Amino acid sequence: MARRFYIKTFGCQMNEYDSARMADVLHKSLGWTAAASAPQADVLLMNTCSVREKAQEKVFSLLGEWRLLKQLRPELIIGVGGCVASQEGDAILQRAPFVDLVFGPQTVHRLPDMIGQLARRAHVVDVSFPEIEKFDRLPEPRAAGARAFVSVMEGCSKYCSYCVVPYTRGDEVSRPFESVLAEVRALACQGVAEVTLLGQNVNAFAGTMADGAVVDLATLIHHVAAVQGVERVRFTTSHPLHFSDSLIEAYASVPALANHLHLPVQSGSDRVLALMKRGYTAAQYRARIRALRAVRPDIAISTDIIVGFPGESERDFEATLQLVADVGFDQSFSFLFSARPGTPAAALPDEVPHEIKQSRLARLQAQLDAQTLSISRSMVGSRQRVLVERAAKRGGAELAGRTENNRWVNFAGPSALMNRFAAVTVTEALPHSLRGRLEAA
Ligand code: SF4
Repeated sequence: MARRFYIKTFGCQMNEYDSARMADVLHKSLGWTAAASAPQADVLLMNTCSVREKAQEKVFSLLGEWRLLKQLRPELIIGVGGCVASQEGDAILQRAPFVDLVFGPQTVHRLPDMIGQLARRAHVVDVSFPEIEKFDRLPEPRAAGARAFVSVMEGCSKYCSYCVVPYTRGDEVSRPFESVLAEVRALACQGVAEVTLLGQNVNAFAGTMADGAVVDLATLIHHVAAVQGVERVRFTTSHPLHFSDSLIEAYASVPALANHLHLPVQSGSDRVLALMKRGYTAAQYRARIRALRAVRPDIAISTDIIVGFPGESERDFEATLQLVADVGFDQSFSFLFSARPGTPAAALPDEVPHEIKQSRLARLQAQLDAQTLSISRSMVGSRQRVLVERAAKRGGAELAGRTENNRWVNFAGPSALMNRFAAVTVTEALPHSLRGRLEAA
């Protein structure tokens, strides 16, 4: 009888992408189907994140719940994948011996084989980095709606002093150019109209073409936007150092490239940026934004900011607040510094009291929220092109879709618009969404 799997995903869009590929491979290779909840499944898989301590703690807390399920049903298979698995490897089995499988982000395609090995072994651990092999072995992706992620590269070679990604995902490896395009074409044939190109450091993409030439992300964007059926292209996450002139040119010449950029700055203080080993100054970041706005004056820009990096002074923090105001960041993410074992920043002296860090985070978030609401209010009365993704949560005949600058808009409309673009005039700005009125196309 076909078994059922349940996948719990923590962390970033790369993990969401990998989880979807895990589902694809289990379905295609073993004929298994997804269960709606953990108690209904025969196989429980967790795709983990180790970027912050809190995310890592959640893994072991959920494993505690799954252990109880396994006590009731000893045949249940439990697997831990993703970055915590990559970082901890066998150590997960010491802390949670009831786990059967431990696999890394680069070995998700081997899941059916690993599950098969459980007939002969109590546990299977495979957290190796077999280059880009997984993309050659994964089945053709199945689209779920009109939006899809497409991973174009894996890993990161930047080694920012606070980050575990280069250790858990390995150095940067790009997929071949044609392999990415083939995946985009296959998704477009299934009705995908919006493609998000993914990578830990996506704008370091260096894809080899059939003739051996190596092309950058800007070239890939040009080709993806030209695929029939693709109407909107996004990419994430970018590093400011690789935010090249050719990418800015793509914003000037590719209308399908969404009017939204997520470009993590992390701090507005040059001293902190140097300690973080980010490789740019606040002035250089500002210069890239100016060059981008010269070709897309109204582009929405979001960012990531770490508050309370070891030794961050009030002056450093105020430089961050100033940069946030100057750039006018929209819908951004800010976090308290979380020391990750094994990273250089974990060993830096840190005398700033926790309460001061928390108060800085609250000040920053208040400023970011105010900027976001101000941008939302400025959209009232504007006509937006919205990709309809689902029925609105409040129900009725309301639909929900996303604008180019990534805001949810709820509006009344026919369900025939699902997974299609609609013209919507914004009528009201709320703290976390917009309300709108459907216009004739
Ligand atoms: S560029 Fe991003 S993923 Fe790479 S090391 Fe720095 S923070 Fe981590």
